[in-house]
Amino acid sequence: MLLTPHTLVGVAIARVVPNPLLAVPLALVMHFLGDKVPHWDFYSFTTRDQRLKGWRPIAVLADFGLGIAVGVFFTLYALWVRNDSSLAISTLLCGIASVLPDALETPHIYTEKKIKWIEKLTTIQKIMQTQAPLPWGVITQIVVGLVSLAIVL
Ligand SMILES: [Zn+2]
Repeated sequence: MLLTPHTLVGVAIARVVPNPLLAVPLALVMHFLGDKVPHWDFYSFTTRDQRLKGWRPIAVLADFGLGIAVGVFFTLYALWVRNDSSLAISTLLCGIASVLPDALETPHIYTEKKIKWIEKLTTIQKIMQTQAPLPWGVITQIVVGLVSLAIVL
């Protein structure tokens, strides 16, 4: 799944589960469940060579940037609009937890140096992926994003 819908799910969990000790691990688990939703991402149906060259690395970076912007936006929204500092902290941590597996794995794709436990994480993530072709693979993520947004607001 793209990083931005993952982040929205994390932000929604922070809003629904008040205890960060529960919300943050749940956001991490929901990353793997989110990847079970049939989806299309920049690595879907690609070879390793296609992942490393051309527009895909730039698109991944843009999605990562958008995900960070969403997480920071809702953290500041909780802090300044809702005036709730504990929600703000939980939102930030859940946002990070919701993309952590991909954030750890993605740089690993671009380096020659292989770290064993990240390779294991990559294997788990590959098993947990359910890919879908366009446009359905994006429509499912729009639905996930909108439902999460409705929960947050
Ligand atoms: Zn993932």
